Amino acid sequence: MERTGAKRTLVHFRCTNPAHARPATLRSDTLTVVEGLWAYCPFDIRVGDHDWQPTGGVTMGELRGETV
Ligand SMILES: [Zn+2]
Repeated sequence: MERTGAKRTLVHFRCTNPAHARPATLRSDTLTVVEGLWAYCPFDIRVGDHDWQPTGGVTMGELRGETV
């Protein structure tokens, strides 16, 4: 099993709500499951009004701008 949030976890949706394009203040959950696939919000998946857009499949490392 892959660990949730691991750099190589494949993410199929990302939230493009401009209000969420900021880092969360405290430790937050940025991964959730949408339509059975991993989805990433840079702010916090616990808040509402996400605007999910398909990514075509990118890794957590790519989403976070990290070098994998
Ligand atoms: Zn969001």
